[in-house]
Amino acid sequence: MFIRSGVLVIISLSKIKKFFLGMRFWLYMSIFVVGVIPIVICMLILSNTYEERMVDLRLTQIRNQCNILGSELSAEGYFDGRVQWSMDIAVERLANFYNGRIYIVNTGMRVVKDTYGINEYKILSCENVVLGMRGKTTAVYDEDKAYIEVAVPIKNTNTGAVTGVMVAGIPTDDLVREFTVMRHKVQLLCVVFCSIALLGGAILSYLLAKPVKRLGNSFGKVSKGHIDTDIPIEGFTETREISENYNNLLAKLRKTEESRQEFVSNVSHELKTPITSVKVLTDSLLSQKEAPIDIYREFLKDISDEIDRESKIISDLLSMVRLEGANSDLNVELYNINELTEAVIRRLKPIAAQNNIEIMFEEIRFVLAEVDEVKLTLAVTNLIENAIKYNKPNGWIKVTLDADQSNFSVCVADSGIGIPKEAQTKIFERFYRIDKARSRSTGGTGLGLSITKKIILLHNGTIDVMSSEEGTSFIITIPLTNAGRTKREADTFEGI
Ligand code: ADP
Repeated sequence: MFIRSGVLVIISLSKIKKFFLGMRFWLYMSIFVVGVIPIVICMLILSNTYEERMVDLRLTQIRNQCNILGSELSAEGYFDGRVQWSMDIAVERLANFYNGRIYIVNTGMRVVKDTYGINEYKILSCENVVLGMRGKTTAVYDEDKAYIEVAVPIKNTNTGAVTGVMVAGIPTDDLVREFTVMRHKVQLLCVVFCSIALLGGAILSYLLAKPVKRLGNSFGKVSKGHIDTDIPIEGFTETREISENYNNLLAKLRKTEESRQEFVSNVSHELKTPITSVKVLTDSLLSQKEAPIDIYREFLKDISDEIDRESKIISDLLSMVRLEGANSDLNVELYNINELTEAVIRRLKPIAAQNNIEIMFEEIRFVLAEVDEVKLTLAVTNLIENAIKYNKPNGWIKVTLDADQSNFSVCVADSGIGIPKEAQTKIFERFYRIDKARSRSTGGTGLGLSITKKIILLHNGTIDVMSSEEGTSFIITIPLTNAGRTKREADTFEGI
């Protein structure tokens, strides 16, 4: 039970980790951050600016009205004791208009008018009054107390001398109410925007991540071995391109898989054929109670031939695997190609002679080239062996060695049976044989030319075939200096 819950915890933790590392989560976060935060910041800045502007307006309005009233007071000789009652009414009216309180202080710092009637005749020496006496206007907004205090100097209209100070204390309840309503609206809008961004972000991140997720699922299927069907091409341009490229890769994979299967089936078939023959021959001998010794000899000769054949197939296969595997790098050294070709011809002459075939060697140039001696010997041997195998009785083979400034060429021409046009491109494929029976009877495996071509490509060279009913010529051309052909280039050879 405990372990089970432990497993559950691990699974859910890994799921959470997967979620947070997922593209969907990061898309979601990006949309949220990019969409919501700037909007919220803008709204807060706008509402603050609006509040500051409103307070400024109110301050300016009060200051102006106090200035106007102050000028009137001065003009009417308020501090001289003339027509004071009518001016008092004007002061009361202004205070009532703003629902506030106004003091008039004379140069002796004494309050000559308080619209609340509380501090009249008292001395008032607060900072703004002192500043007012010096001719300075002060205006303060106390946000916490919701209160504006403006102090303006009252100046004599003729002399310009300060004759008193008017202090207006105005509550800003109406502004506070307005700001509260405004803030509620901003908060509501923020909630609405956040909700839209949350929902929109969820939908958008789901839609954006969906094709990628689908692509991931398709890749998963392929990695489990389902390579037969292409993955669907859908979604955005990028995911479409990935799908298309992936399908191309799949097609190549299928082709490689097909070729691998074909190779395995060919190898099995080729290896099985001599063993089947050996089995038939031995069974046949065993079934005869008293077979004459000549029959034994004949059958054993056949069995020996089949074993040779099996061994040839295996050695050809090994050569091919070596050429394709990690050891396919060339062991390049400067060699005398005349000597190399001559050695091959000398070795094969007795075999050719058995069929009454003459081998001629024409050395047009003396050639020194950078080659892998073992591999090039194998390639030239294959060509001359084929020229012997597929020749006519009493035929001839002419090997020509030539060179120019950059390449040398070996041409193996024969007076043989020729290769039909349609088969000339296929003969380099593994196990391809035009006449299976003839190839078998001459000990062919169908691998010789594919091995040869692979070797020539590793040498950065080319191999061409020209054939007619009168005979065939194979021409190999190889650079005199092995100009660093990469292994990968050679691996692109389709036939192998
Ligand atoms: P094999 O082991 O059968 O000779 P190769 O790969 O060497 O296999 O050659 C492939 C096929 O090409 C041969 O089976 C043969 O039919 C044909 N071929 C190769 N060389 C010659 C040639 N000189 N003349 C005629 N046919 C040839």
